[in-house]
Amino acid sequence: MGRRKSKRQAPTRKKAIEPLDQEFNCPFCNHEQSCEVKMDKGRNTARISCRVCMEDYQTTINVLSDPIDVYNDWIDACETAN
Ligand SMILES: [Zn+2]
Repeated sequence: MGRRKSKRQAPTRKKAIEPLDQEFNCPFCNHEQSCEVKMDKGRNTARISCRVCMEDYQTTINVLSDPIDVYNDWIDACETAN
């Protein structure tokens, strides 16, 4: 009786744990790494705020959104406003 290895285990890929909060440069006061993104995926919202000039912005996100998307939204909103 030949034994066949039929069961193949799918490789489990270890996902690196990424911090949800990231810091970006502020488009208003131009400070570096002063804008903090808070992702609230439970409510599909995210808020980014600058701790130097206190500018802040809130946007809607989805499960695929990254902090950089929130930041890009903010930049877009700034450019639209100007
Ligand atoms: Zn700022």
